[in-house]
Parts: sequence; C-alpha cells; structure tokens
Amino acid sequence: RAKQEGRNTYRLYRAEMHVKDHQQLALETALRNTVESGEGLEVHYQPLVERDSGEVHGAEALLRWSPPGFGAVSPGEFIPLAERSGLIIPLGQRLMRLVAAQLRAWRVAGLAPPRVAINLSARQFWQDDLVEQVRALFEEFDLPSGLIGFELTESVLLDHQQQAVAILEALRGFGCHLAIDDFGTGYSSLSYLQDLPLTTLKIDRRFVQRLVGEDSRGSAAIVAAVTGLARELGLRVVAEGVETEAQRQALSRYPVDLLQGYLTGRPVDAAGFERRWLRALVAWEGAAIARE
Ligand code: C2E
Ligand code: MG
Ligand code: MG
Ligand code: MG
Repeated sequence: RAKQEGRNTYRLYRAEMHVKDHQQLALETALRNTVESGEGLEVHYQPLVERDSGEVHGAEALLRWSPPGFGAVSPGEFIPLAERSGLIIPLGQRLMRLVAAQLRAWRVAGLAPPRVAINLSARQFWQDDLVEQVRALFEEFDLPSGLIGFELTESVLLDHQQQAVAILEALRGFGCHLAIDDFGTGYSSLSYLQDLPLTTLKIDRRFVQRLVGEDSRGSAAIVAAVTGLARELGLRVVAEGVETEAQRQALSRYPVDLLQGYLTGRPVDAAGFERRWLRALVAWEGAAIARE
C-alpha cells in the first residue's frame, strides 16, 4: 500500500510538474510576444513624496503586464521569468523608452515632470552598452539632465566594484540619481556605501512596517542607525512601503527625506500619476502663497 501511495504521489507530482512547466512555457512565449509587440505592457508610476512638504519629488516606474489570455501577471512572477530567459534585456529597454516617451510627452504639453527612477537588475546593469543606451535615451527624447534615475539592489553591486564605480560615475554624468533599493535585505558590507557614487538609500519596507507595534524596538534601532549613516554620507533617504499614518508618525523621529507607499500614493498609470503630482503641486503652491 505504501508503495502504491508513493507511486500515486509520484504520478500526481509528475502531472503537476507537467502543468507547471506548460504554464511557464506559455507565459514565456507570451512574454516573448510582448517584448516584440509591446502589447499588454504598461508602466505605472508611484510617487516619492517629500516627507516635510508633501511635494511630489519623483516617481518609481513599475512594470505592469497583462498578456492577452492570461489576465494580470504580477512583477513578482514575470520579472524572475524575464531574468531566467534573458528577456529582461529587451523588456527593460522597452520600459526605458516608454518612460522617456512619457516624460517627453509631459514636457511637450508644457509640464515639468518630476524625476522617474527605473529598476535595474544585475543583468541589465552589466550590459556592455548600458551607459550608451542611457546617453542615447536622454538625447533622443531631449530630456534634461537627471530626469531619469536608477534603482539597484545591493547584490548588483557586490561583485566587480571597480567596474561598478565606472558605470555609476558615467550615469551620474547624465545627472541620474542612483538609489540602493530594498536596503537592509542584502548581505553587503557597509563599505560600498562609501565607495560607490550613490545618491539615495531606500530603506526596505520590512523595517518601516515593523516600526509600529510589538517588537518595534529592533526595527527602530536599525532605522535610526541607517538613516543616521545615510545622513552622514550625504545620501537622500527614502522610506519604502509606508502604509499607515502610525508608520508616518514613527518615521518623523528619523532623518528621512522621502516617503513612498500606499499612504502617499499607490502605483498608478501615467494619467493617474499626472493628476497626483499636479494636485500636490497646487496644494504646495497654495501653502506657499498662504505663507507669504
Ligand atoms: P521594488 O523595486 O522594491 O518596488 C517596490 C514594490 O513595492 C512595488 O511592487 C510596489 O508596488 C510595492 N509597494 C509600494 N508601496 C507599497 C506599500 O505601501 N506596501 C506594500 N506592501 N507594497 C508596496 P511591484 O510593483 O509588485 O514590484 C515588485 C518588484 O518587481 C520591484 O520591487 C522590483 O524589484 C521589480 N520590478 C518592477 N518593475 C520592474 C522593472 O521595470 N524592472 C526590473 N528590473 N524590476 C522591476
Ligand atoms: Mg525599486
Ligand atoms: Mg524597493
Ligand atoms: Mg522593496
């Protein structure tokens, strides 16, 4: 009997594997088509808000994908798939062009959009011609220096620090802000914060979310240390994943420059982001006039 059950479990396992493989393959084919056609791909923008003034300082570009026949697939699923298949390279290039074209469209409409940060995975960062791609992007879309920036995780910068410095410096040459994403979740030593030409440190949302409630002391100590360190190193600090007023309150005790999270704005499409940023602008200018 045991043997029989074992065999059945094995068969079931095989069947599940088969379905899974099949789905993965179908998804990969769909991703390949999207990379070719752009169909089902959209950029959402999540505001980065100045903690003290409420002004929208910038946005993070986040890919959204709804392939025909699948419904929405989360980035947590399709980004790793894109990584494994190598499709992240053409996908990332598409994203960069979509963002640049959107920034251009806003400028042509007479608006002054805030800076937009693009996520770069290791494979993207280490492309031979990344710097040239970025240079060409600024030129083709006639974007002012610094309007596009990048976010990298600690693991991207762990190896080959010398080469990383050269690439980061070249990007800084276009005025790009360069952020360390999800800070505190990697394994890196702290020395690279000093050695690399970064502008921004984004504290991972797990620390922000544990600032409130039971056993908040550990997170409070980490946030105090990290923000203090960033301040000393001249880095701008972003708190990620701020969801509640209580978290915002807790963060007011530390030198945090910018907030990003559902509390200050969810990722929304370009039209939604435009409304969000113009609303903040009106409020901010209104307050400035009231102060005069
Ligand atoms: P990330 O770069 O750390 O982006 C922040 C993620 O946190 C986003 O998830 C965002 O929707 C989510 N988030 C923002 N505010 C809150 C909040 O208050 N609470 C919670 N619980 N979550 C919040 P999303 O869009 O699902 O993206 C997940 C990850 O996928 C990103 O993490 C990034 O690593 C990757 N990703 C997304 N778009 C791209 C892309 O264009 N290129 C690359 N290479 N990676 C991307
Ligand atoms: Mg990011
Ligand atoms: Mg992040
Ligand atoms: Mg994160």
